[in-house]
Amino acid sequence: MKHAILPALLLAAASAPAPATDVPKEFRYLYGSAEAAAITRESYRALVGLALERKAERDAGKPLTQTVLASGSTLDHPLFEGCGGKPLAAVFDVDETLLLNIGFEEWDATRPDRDGPWPKDAWASWEKTGTDKVAALPGALDMVAALRAAGVAVIYNTNRNGATADYTAKALEFAGFGKATPGVDLYTDTIGDGKKDGRRAAIASTYCVIALAGDQLGDISDLFNAAALSVPQRRAATALPAIAPLWGQGWFLLPNPVYGPPTRGTADDVFPDPALHWSPVP
Ligand SMILES: [Mg+2]
Repeated sequence: MKHAILPALLLAAASAPAPATDVPKEFRYLYGSAEAAAITRESYRALVGLALERKAERDAGKPLTQTVLASGSTLDHPLFEGCGGKPLAAVFDVDETLLLNIGFEEWDATRPDRDGPWPKDAWASWEKTGTDKVAALPGALDMVAALRAAGVAVIYNTNRNGATADYTAKALEFAGFGKATPGVDLYTDTIGDGKKDGRRAAIASTYCVIALAGDQLGDISDLFNAAALSVPQRRAATALPAIAPLWGQGWFLLPNPVYGPPTRGTADDVFPDPALHWSPVP
């Protein structure tokens, strides 16, 4: 009997499903949820709509204005230059704006020590070795195709390492965006300062940038990343009189609850108004 039961038990053990591995909620939202997929399509649809409007205005001879902040801007007093006759372009961040870093994020979501510091060595390895472990964000390929069909250039501005720009181009091509050329339509961080304003200015010197899109405010302007801005001040900056009208009208943001500045803050930062604090009433 013993000998008959043992193989059956072993077989049962071998075929039992592996215990499910949990992942933090923010990963479920961004990489798993229908809601994140839908909001991404919503944002891209709005971006294409605006681009077509701007194209029609250009065709009608109406002067256009850059969405890139001009030199000398502050958040209180943003400045925008005219476009002249420059060709139209939309400028995109790459990570979690056009590319979902599926391979890296699955690794990050399930590793045991993920509450430690940002694993920058692992990310550096990812830029070079994960080029076929990525996917386009939902709706991103259709959006890019619609822009190109309308004659709007698609320019990438990423803080990925300039030294590995060829690999980033490979990842974009693998995801279906076509060939990207470093220094032409793919701008990377060649200085290592994590800032994008200089590259935005360079792009705006050639193109009429009618849309900026990203998953962090640094994809719009480095001014939002000033160290002096607290979490509540940074949030309040999005509502400044000269800034508020730009959301969805040239500046487009996608959700990223997984990493970067949107994920910072203590309870006091996130819920700063004591007048709104509450506890259950017995
Ligand atoms: Mg990003």
